Amino acid sequence: MSKAAVFWDRDGTLIADPGYLNDPDQVELLPGAAEALRRLSETGYENVVVTNQSGIARGLLDEERLKQIHDRMKRLFADAGAGFEAIYYCPYLDGPEAVVEEYRKDSDLRKPKPGMLIQASLERKIDLTASWVIGDSLRDAEAGRAAGCRTILLTAADGQIVNSPDVDFVAASLAEAVEIVQKYSPQGQMREATASMIAAADQETTNLLRDILNFLRTAERRTKEEDFSLIQLTGAIVQMLALAAFIWAFFAMIRGGNALALLSGIQQLLFSIFLQLFALALFMLARKSDR
Ligand SMILES: [Mg+2]
Repeated sequence: MSKAAVFWDRDGTLIADPGYLNDPDQVELLPGAAEALRRLSETGYENVVVTNQSGIARGLLDEERLKQIHDRMKRLFADAGAGFEAIYYCPYLDGPEAVVEEYRKDSDLRKPKPGMLIQASLERKIDLTASWVIGDSLRDAEAGRAAGCRTILLTAADGQIVNSPDVDFVAASLAEAVEIVQKYSPQGQMREATASMIAAADQETTNLLRDILNFLRTAERRTKEEDFSLIQLTGAIVQMLALAAFIWAFFAMIRGGNALALLSGIQQLLFSIFLQLFALALFMLARKSDR
């Protein structure tokens, strides 16, 4: 399976750019560069440096000197716990400024042409469409676009507005550029998809719990209402029975002329009083359960 890479511009992106750097001692890592390389390496990207070095064609340094510069750069990054898999450079330049004839030519390697990216892709089996270019110059973005990569342009602190079809994203810092790459990386996309699935599942669970709670509340209310009406109904029936028993006892006592009939009437009267008390008790119970 082919890999994805982040192609880094060198000067002004990973290390300070004094203008045609030609001394290893001038190498100075830019703030956040080591951290950026480390984080993207952890995300699964190859870090590859692609740099125009027309200083060689201009006679300001030779390839041996450039190697020393890169060795020091590697050492400094290694000391900071970071690194890159490869460095590609273009020593060529066209026109009269190229005083070293050997390097005077219009090369496809020189950014904004995509030669270095294509060469790296072929040699290192890198999937360019899954790869990124990060640089501080439009030339970097143009090379990236021509190679089919996504591009991030680092802007100066003044927040200049960039309007170029070759620039996919603008970042104010290396940390921001890393965040963009991570967000759009397969892992980042997976993480976002998982997060939204978890959020959806959470919402589903919350809805389900709310439904269950509502159901239980409704059921409780219904039970209470049913209890209430049942008690009330029983109370009303007992009340009517008490009234009937009272009338029956009253007439029995009036009609009956002997002591036995009077005793039976008193018994019926007591029974009706008992029923009345029972009905009252039921009404009180109904009122209590209503509260
Ligand atoms: Mg640059």
